[in-house]
Amino acid sequence: MTKPALDEFVVQFWGVRGSVPSPGFETIRYGGNTSCIEIRAAGKRIIFDAGTGLRNLGKELEGQTNLELHMCFTHYHWDHIQGLPFFDPLFQSGNSLHVYGQVPEEVRPMTLEEHFYHRVLHKDSPIPLANLETNIFFHELTCGETFKIGDAEIATAPLNHPNGAMGYRVSWQDRAIVYCTDTEHYPDHLDENILNLAKDSDILVYDAMYTDEEYHDPKSPKVGWGHSTWQEGLKLTKAANIRKLAVFHHEPNHTDDILDSIAKDLAEKSEESFLAKEKAIASVFD
Ligand SMILES: [Zn+2]
Ligand SMILES: [Zn+2]
Repeated sequence: MTKPALDEFVVQFWGVRGSVPSPGFETIRYGGNTSCIEIRAAGKRIIFDAGTGLRNLGKELEGQTNLELHMCFTHYHWDHIQGLPFFDPLFQSGNSLHVYGQVPEEVRPMTLEEHFYHRVLHKDSPIPLANLETNIFFHELTCGETFKIGDAEIATAPLNHPNGAMGYRVSWQDRAIVYCTDTEHYPDHLDENILNLAKDSDILVYDAMYTDEEYHDPKSPKVGWGHSTWQEGLKLTKAANIRKLAVFHHEPNHTDDILDSIAKDLAEKSEESFLAKEKAIASVFD
């Protein structure tokens, strides 16, 4: 993989699974790695979350030197950080990594840097983390803040998730990709933070861990777990005039066959929407 092309504006999915890695024969087609996406915009490589999918992005970057990487965190649940110690570019000198995220309420007044070294790069990591070679720069965010990475504009908004999470919008040349995971919808109204963040965007990557039926299953309801459904994602997509919904953060027990059947149901409601698959690329220009 060479440097991102200057005219490219795409999202590539490196890990699409929620909660826990789920390798096996039944998850081969959609993939079992946890949350990690890469948005390439304005010639920049912007990584969102560092789930186990990040390892494969690192392998893809092998041989490249003087990398300038940007990594934005929604939050720090295990499924969003476990790939970090296995991300090869961290161990090569000459690379630089910019880390963006908020500091969780419960660990303040820790700074983002302290939080990163003490909690995200945990001392029980199986990889010795003392010899990180990359220069790391920290950019502490508060929800609602906007900032720039090169010519790409990034906006943020709070999500509805235990311990909090942050959604991101990447805008460039009148196009936008929005990343909102992990988040739970409200029973009586659409989430205004997401509606505002995602308004008129091209692609919304959304936490659609469950189907509505699973979410409301009387035997095992998922209410209050901090995740949403593809049907709720579709409501947001229509209300905010978004072109495509990318169903993301798949439930670990959803086999390829189950996901295929969700994809079929989704296609009947929205032709352009799709289920995220590991390594797949979606462009705002398609
Ligand atoms: Zn998650
Ligand atoms: Zn989470």
